[in-house]
Amino acid sequence: MKAWRAALLGFDARRQPWRIDDGMLVVQHGRILELGPYAELAARHPGLDVVDWRGLTLAPGFIDPHVHFPQIDLIGSPGPGLLPWLQRYTFPLEARFADPAVAADAAGFFVDELLRNGVTTAMAWGSSHPVSVDALLREAQARRLRMIAGKCLMDREVPEAVRDHSQRGLEDTDALIRRWHDVDRLGIAITPRFVPSCSASQLGGAAELARAHPDVWVQTHAAENREELALVRRLHPQARSYLDVYDAVGLLRPRSVLAHCIHIDDQDRRRLAQTGAAVAVCPSSNLFLGSGVFDFDAARRSGFAWALASDVGAGTSLSPFHTMLDAWKLARLGAGAMEAAELWWRHTAGAARAIDLGGLIGNLAPGLEADFIALDDRATPLLARRTAAAASLDEWLAAMIVLADDRAIRHTVVLGEVARLRCAG
Ligand SMILES: [Zn+2]
Repeated sequence: MKAWRAALLGFDARRQPWRIDDGMLVVQHGRILELGPYAELAARHPGLDVVDWRGLTLAPGFIDPHVHFPQIDLIGSPGPGLLPWLQRYTFPLEARFADPAVAADAAGFFVDELLRNGVTTAMAWGSSHPVSVDALLREAQARRLRMIAGKCLMDREVPEAVRDHSQRGLEDTDALIRRWHDVDRLGIAITPRFVPSCSASQLGGAAELARAHPDVWVQTHAAENREELALVRRLHPQARSYLDVYDAVGLLRPRSVLAHCIHIDDQDRRRLAQTGAAVAVCPSSNLFLGSGVFDFDAARRSGFAWALASDVGAGTSLSPFHTMLDAWKLARLGAGAMEAAELWWRHTAGAARAIDLGGLIGNLAPGLEADFIALDDRATPLLARRTAAAASLDEWLAAMIVLADDRAIRHTVVLGEVARLRCAG
């Protein structure tokens, strides 16, 4: 058993944030045993060694439900919109991930960067090569991280070096499921890249695999960009909408996570809610590629699950603060507004719920896995000055979202152990 003394931050069942200024968090066997005011818990556990992190705030580790690990090496690559960006930068880079040494090197760096940014669980994409997923999951396993990953299925409309054969791609995915799914804290996602890159037989096969493994995740992209939408209309003239292509084969289901869903209508939103599929909203990517503005208000009205994600490398940072700030700006530009507390919830407890891991991660609560971060709200002079003047928890959260970055993540704790970085300085 071990314990920490610090301020504590979490969410109640009504998604409202709470804070205990002088708190104590007790961990046993990698799970949170109990938490509360220090004076109360210290009296109940006399003689227990308590790590003194007063001045820091313990908060749930962030969850990134949509990120491409090979693309850590192309953040900020200038391209005019999604399709040319894929052709010019993404596919040539991902072709290199057929080499296990390239994949292992990037995986080590990527996991370090997640931890430096306070991200303790990710739903990550490899390239189309299964060795890329092996490299990432091996790295996550060595750090005892909870991680979901999948190899891209893409058997058409992409260059030869990243194209897989439709049947072979499905067999490779099936082998990854057998090798990794539910091993330690690891999971596999069936990963059709997007509608244009998958033949009807590959999409149908992916859906069949998903039916055979209901506890395996599905991750894909949907309705990101108007040019992409026009391409899907040409390829699938019979489909009512982009989402309808996935719906028709049965790929909308619980544990399906669709990135973007910007250009969708109310019928699509109803189908998301009815089927239990979730959406990963990627604001910094949408701004960088100019893809469009996610309709936050309509999403709230429709009641489907959605969470915030980085979508690195079209996304411009792995920092959840950066993503939350861009969501704030996008929501202001669009029809709605996002409160600081909701932004934070949708990157932690709400993200856990969206990827169906709500009972395990994403919050500080007894029974959950002890993945948490220690935040330093004095990490920079301006952050210290601004957070000291915050008159409420809501103002503190908003100041952190706007001004904090990886410098404010003092420690990242995984299953009750402080994570150590391997390569990043
Ligand atoms: Zn993506």
